[in-house]
Amino acid sequence: MRFVRKSVQETPPYTPGEQPEGTEFVKLNTNENPYPPSPRVLEAVHDAAGASLRLYPNPTARELREKIGDVYGFDPAQVFVGNGMDEVLSLIVRTFVEVGEQAVIFYPSYTLDEILLRQHGAVPVIVELGKDFSVPLEAADADAKVLFLPNPNSPTGILEPQAKVRDLCERFRGLVVIDEAYVDFAEENCLELAAEMENVLVSRTFSKSSSLAGLRVGFAVGPEQLIAALNKTKDSYNVNRVSQAAALAALEDLPYAIENVARIKATRTRLVTQLERQGFDVLRSSANFVMARHPHLAASAIYKALKEQGILVRYFEMPRLDQYVRITIGTDEETDRLLGALAEIAAGGTGNPG
Ligand SMILES: *Cc1c(COP(=O)(O)O)cnc(C)c1O
Repeated sequence: MRFVRKSVQETPPYTPGEQPEGTEFVKLNTNENPYPPSPRVLEAVHDAAGASLRLYPNPTARELREKIGDVYGFDPAQVFVGNGMDEVLSLIVRTFVEVGEQAVIFYPSYTLDEILLRQHGAVPVIVELGKDFSVPLEAADADAKVLFLPNPNSPTGILEPQAKVRDLCERFRGLVVIDEAYVDFAEENCLELAAEMENVLVSRTFSKSSSLAGLRVGFAVGPEQLIAALNKTKDSYNVNRVSQAAALAALEDLPYAIENVARIKATRTRLVTQLERQGFDVLRSSANFVMARHPHLAASAIYKALKEQGILVRYFEMPRLDQYVRITIGTDEETDRLLGALAEIAAGGTGNPG
C-alpha cells in the first residue's frame, strides 16, 4: 500500500496472547494478575467516573507522579507516566533513537521492543542470550543509542542481579532502558541505577502486580532531562482521568498489592515443585509466570491439549522457545486444575472423554 511507510509495511504486528471473549477459559497466557484490584482502586474508579469526565485530565499526571516519587524515592520531575508501559517504550524509541540508528535488544526477550524499533525505522542489534538465557556483558560494547533490558526477562522469567546490570550500564555508551514489568515478583530491582546514573531509565507498570492491565498505566523514572524529553513527545493528555485516579489509589493501598504478590510467589513455588515432580524442566523464574518443558511431550502438543481442556497457556513458535510453554501463575485453584490436566496429558489421554 503506497500510503504506508516502508518501515511500517515491512514490520509484522505485535501478536499479543489470546484474549477470548467470555470466562470459560482458565487464562494463564498473558501474565495478568489472577486477583482483582484493591477495593480502594475500584472506589476511586467509581468516584472518577462522574461529571468531571467532561474535563481533560492533568496533562502530566501530577498527583500520581508525586505519589510515585514518594513511594520509590524520586523527585516528581524524574517520573514520567504513560498509557501503559508499552506507550512509555514506544515514546522512548521516538524520543531517543533517530531513524537509521541502532538499538540493542536481546533474544529471546520482549518482542515488542524489536517491533517498535523496526516500525520507527531504527535498526535492532539482536544479541543472543547465553545457553542459560543469561545476558552477555559484551552486548554493552555495541555502537547503539539505546539498549533494552527487560529484567526479569520475558518470557524466560530470569532475573539479572543488580550488580551485573550496573556493570552493563557503566560499560554501554548509550541509554539503558530497564523494563521492570515483573520486578515486584523478584528479589531485587534496579531503581538505584536510575537514581544514580545519567544513562539509565527504569520502566514499570501497574498491569501485573497491581492487577490493572485493563486500565493501562505505566511509568518510567530516571534523570530529569530524559523525563523532560519524554514529556515533549507524549500526547498532551496521554493518561485518562480514571486511570490516573486508579493508579494513585493502588499506590495508596500498596499492602493490598504486596499481599497478592506474596500469594502469587507462594503459588509459583508450589507450581514449580509440582511441575518438576511431573518431570518438567522449569527455568528459575522471578516473575509471575514460569517457562517449562517436558522431556517427552512437545510443547505445541501440551498447549493444544490444555486448550482443549479449557486452559490457556502461551506457546511461542520461535527458536529456543518452542520447547517450552509459558504458564502464568494463577490462583491456587487454577493451578491445581492445570496440574491435574498436565498429569492426564502426560499419562497419555487429553482428558477428553471419548
Ligand atoms: C506486560 C509487559 C509490559 C507492558 O505493560 P503495560 O503497562 O501493560 O503496557 C512491558 N514489558 C514487559 C516485559 C511486559 O511483560
